[in-house]
Amino acid sequence: MYGYRCEYCEGTVKPRKVEREAFKHKNGFVILENITIGVCDSCGNRYYHADILHTVHEIATGKRLAERTEPIPVAHL
Ligand SMILES: [Zn+2]
Repeated sequence: MYGYRCEYCEGTVKPRKVEREAFKHKNGFVILENITIGVCDSCGNRYYHADILHTVHEIATGKRLAERTEPIPVAHL
């Protein structure tokens, strides 16, 4: 599902297993753990497969229950 050409450079998007990745959503953030994302081997841009974005959307909209919820620190400069 990865291995295609980067949209921003001449690099190739390679699969990388990550322990956790935070996704911004209009309702806040969703963190997915132990997922495989795509990372460009040249510029480092990250790519997410449609399945990942679909899961983030389902959790963010309450269609799918999160396994747990963690507090996120917030501050102003
Ligand atoms: Zn790239």
